[in-house]
Amino acid sequence: MWNVISDRISEATGRRFSAQHPTPIGGGCINAAYSLEQGERRYFVKTNTADKVSMFAAESAGLQEIARSKTIRVPFPACHGTTGDTAFLVLEHIEFGKGGTGGVAELGRQLARMHRTTSDTYGWRMDNTIGATRQLNTPSNQWAGFWREQRLGFQLQLAAHNGYGGNLQRKGERLLADIDRFFVNHEPAASLSHGDLWAGNYGIMPDGTPVIFDPAVYYGDRETDMAMTELFGGYPAAFYDAYEDEYPLNRGYAVRKTLYNLYHVLNHLNLFGGGYLSQAEHMMDTLLY
Ligand code: ADP
Repeated sequence: MWNVISDRISEATGRRFSAQHPTPIGGGCINAAYSLEQGERRYFVKTNTADKVSMFAAESAGLQEIARSKTIRVPFPACHGTTGDTAFLVLEHIEFGKGGTGGVAELGRQLARMHRTTSDTYGWRMDNTIGATRQLNTPSNQWAGFWREQRLGFQLQLAAHNGYGGNLQRKGERLLADIDRFFVNHEPAASLSHGDLWAGNYGIMPDGTPVIFDPAVYYGDRETDMAMTELFGGYPAAFYDAYEDEYPLNRGYAVRKTLYNLYHVLNHLNLFGGGYLSQAEHMMDTLLY
């Protein structure tokens, strides 16, 4: 398998590459990850089962979409494909450093500039995945409807399918029926969004350059990215200060962030079960009253 991947890297880069002994890297949630190197050249390779190749194709396209915005550094995708029963995605390998305050402040500024890259419609040109769950991106002109149907509604249906009925569904239905009230005077720009920007999906290079990776790209309300930075642990204060200086958040974010993070908590319920059920219901309670 590593011969095939090396050959594909050679074809994609136009330079012979023949490493055969990968070094496993820990830390990913969904995929196995490896470093593959030959001399100075080093790649970061993710693998999964062959049926996940479209997930890798969408991740590669998402990284390219962000790269095209020329606002923030992402690992550049070299190639993706399948060999036997394995799907693979090969990215430029990036060395992360300790990262000081300067790096996270720059991250805030650059993310704000990325969010100023906009589209005419919400969604994207392809569906992708959030974690291992399908994420719908059918283009839409109406943000509230997009969030209701393609984000919360989709995850709620999946939860019902996974056996989470009862209170979760009853509260969810009430929330969806009344969702417009969160968007009074709020028609956000369709901003290029990372889509999965929890604190595990950024790094700072030793020279201070911020990098974001593992995206679930689409065009939507930039507040969704900011909300997710706060969901699992939060980012350093310097990040938020720099973002606010560059592109201040609108009033109403404080309430909407719970509505936006509910999507990720429902996704975690669908992926991992357990305690995310009470967390999701608690979030719905605060939104309903
Ligand atoms: P998964 O898709 O399984 O969640 P990630 O893309 O989040 O995997 O990568 C797992 C870990 O590998 C990250 O937390 C990060 O530390 C590291 N990593 C991600 N991309 C690169 C890269 N291009 N170069 C080096 N390390 C990386």
